Amino acid sequence: LNRRLTEFGTTIFAEMSALAVRTGSINLGQGFPDTDGPEEVREAAVRALRDGHGNQYPPGPGVPELRTAIAAHQLRRYGLSYDPDTEVLVTAGATEAIAAALLALLEPGDEVVAFEPYYDSYAAGIALAGGTRVPVTLRPHEGGFRLDLDELRAAVTDRTRLLLINTPHNPTGAVLTRAELTAVAELAVERDLLVVTDEVYEHLVFDDAEHVPLATLPGMRERTVTIGSAGKTFSFTGWKVGWVTSTPELVGAVRSVKQFLTYVSSGPFQYAVAEALSLPDSYFESFRADLCAKRDLLATGLAEAGFEVFRPAGTYFITTDVRPLGEKDGFAFCRALPERAGVVAIPNAVFYDNRDEGAPFVRFAFCKREEVLAEAVNRLRRL
Ligand code: PMP
Ligand code: GLN
Repeated sequence: LNRRLTEFGTTIFAEMSALAVRTGSINLGQGFPDTDGPEEVREAAVRALRDGHGNQYPPGPGVPELRTAIAAHQLRRYGLSYDPDTEVLVTAGATEAIAAALLALLEPGDEVVAFEPYYDSYAAGIALAGGTRVPVTLRPHEGGFRLDLDELRAAVTDRTRLLLINTPHNPTGAVLTRAELTAVAELAVERDLLVVTDEVYEHLVFDDAEHVPLATLPGMRERTVTIGSAGKTFSFTGWKVGWVTSTPELVGAVRSVKQFLTYVSSGPFQYAVAEALSLPDSYFESFRADLCAKRDLLATGLAEAGFEVFRPAGTYFITTDVRPLGEKDGFAFCRALPERAGVVAIPNAVFYDNRDEGAPFVRFAFCKREEVLAEAVNRLRRL
């Protein structure tokens, strides 16, 4: 393995899911739902397979039906207009979109400013591209994790090429407010930066939180690469269908890389995701309500078990602080948790460069059936 990647080892998700299997624990670590997405969408995939839609190499940018559905979704939900032929690219999940965007846009030595804790593939993607990551730490403030705009401004240097944003944010569950995003946008315009924004949890927002796509803000559409994924919105994480929307120039750059990573993305699932994106608003509403109830169940249970809980406004993750339990090190806590309680969680420290900042935080996923969450809570109460 080359030197750019040796620091990364095996992803925490693979390590912790293997631990869950080995110990027979309830897996609230890796974020994947334990029920599949809508029946009619699965049927659409079966139909596509059976009728021979996408069984041979689909077009590099993605099948026209899906590109059209992605553009229609961005217009219907956010008033953002994209040309399906030149401004939309289908990728092998958001993971490929992130890696391809970084490989396409960075020169070796360029700096990328990203929030910390960050989703683990960001650091590896930046490293693959020879870039340097510059973390801006989100810290607890009034019950949630918040961005310090002064720190963000101070992190930008003459070598900064792009900002890598994620809202709703994994693992903290923070949803950036319109005011915060406006400040990010103003900074990007002022310093003439590109922005890659990972919005895979766009539909997983609760209470009165609002997802504001960065590309909707003044001056941003032309400098923003927006990333989405069917995995989260439709509960098909195994299908690996993601997408990029941006200008023809930026989408073209990402496509240039994608053609040598995967060439094209899996065909039949693209037709099914096109149908999923056209589901009525009621699908998105009931999915959100269902997840919100699960969030409440797990948040209440974790608080009763003695954790400090940062109630998430979005995503399907809850970040907790283990210090009220008399623990200091979230990593040690997570390694011992299967033995102690038969539950697996993720230590947030792995998402930090400044590991000390993340040491006491542990993430639990709530995209699980209610009875599974209730049993996990029962077990954790005995800690
Ligand atoms: N970005 C974030 C913030 C995520 O949480 C995930 C999923 N774990 C991804 C990207 C990757 O998405 P996909 O499965 O579509 O590759
Ligand atoms: N995005 C999911 C998480 O944060 C899983 C990602 C993965 O397994 N690579 O848990």
